[in-house]
Amino acid sequence: MATPEQQAFHDELVGHRLILPSGVPGVWARSDAFESVLQRFDGRVRALAAADGAERLHFPPVIPRRLLEHTGYLDSFPHLAGTVFSFTGSEVQSRELSRRVHAGEPWAELQTQTDVALTPAACYPVYPMLRGVLPEGGRTLEVQNHCFRHEPSGDPARLQLFRMHEVIRAGQPEAVIAWRATWLERSLALLRSLELDAHAVHASDPFFGRAGKMLAASQKEQGFKFEIVVPIASEEPTAICSFNYHQEHFGKLFEIALPDGSVAHTACLGFGLERVTLALFRRHGLDAREWPAAVRPALDG
Ligand code: ATP
Ligand code: ZN
Repeated sequence: MATPEQQAFHDELVGHRLILPSGVPGVWARSDAFESVLQRFDGRVRALAAADGAERLHFPPVIPRRLLEHTGYLDSFPHLAGTVFSFTGSEVQSRELSRRVHAGEPWAELQTQTDVALTPAACYPVYPMLRGVLPEGGRTLEVQNHCFRHEPSGDPARLQLFRMHEVIRAGQPEAVIAWRATWLERSLALLRSLELDAHAVHASDPFFGRAGKMLAASQKEQGFKFEIVVPIASEEPTAICSFNYHQEHFGKLFEIALPDGSVAHTACLGFGLERVTLALFRRHGLDAREWPAAVRPALDG
């Protein structure tokens, strides 16, 4: 569902050929004008991560299904997860599949679950790579990837597949907490240099169900997650960057240890790249060539 304001923004973006709808809500193609802004912003984040000594890793947009199961993602966010299914049947079943497809009948039961799932957050595949003892001072890593969340919506800022640029830190609790605070300041400065009206707020994850509401309240109260929000096309400003402190969660799951043998803590921050790009078009107008003189060089770094 989209509000009239979101629908109007969506239609303007389509009218200016910045986004090209596919027919499925939250899955759209982007023009080169849109992509060029996204890539420039991405380059700014990459430069900050490089200055922070982050090691850059590259993953495909799928993870082992086992990873989704092991991290508890399906306990907290069963409604957002996407798993890949494929056909592994006989020739007779393949003809039945084809018949059903052309007759417009349901055919999902003729597919079986594979070993892969769509990446739900860019940082997920990083934690298994950290297994073992961290060097003195911990590790900082960086990833950019497509992420899937099953939340179809007419709001142009809510996609089913979108890119997240994340920086991840593993180390001692105090170091991880201080690192997250530094990145909050750094990220606010970056976004404000682009003349975005950016503010930090305490936040919570969209946990599923009634028990999820309590989890979300406690997460917010304890300050484990905060977000940078900017106006896009919703009544409330939209989150364009999230900062998560996982404490020992991933350290325990993947046996990530500090040199003294204790469990490492982790934190991550993730920029939603399509959202940042949409926020820039919303703020400065739909023709990037007409943006304020100060903003374009700031995008190029
Ligand atoms: P974790 O790693 O703990 O699962 P995360 O920080 O990686 O969490 P989120 O906080 O849920 O993940 O999302 C990070 C950023 O991704 C958000 O700040 C937002 O900018 C962007 N984002 C999230 N959902 C969507 C969506 N449906 N469409 C577009 N961008 C999104
Ligand atoms: Zn993350």
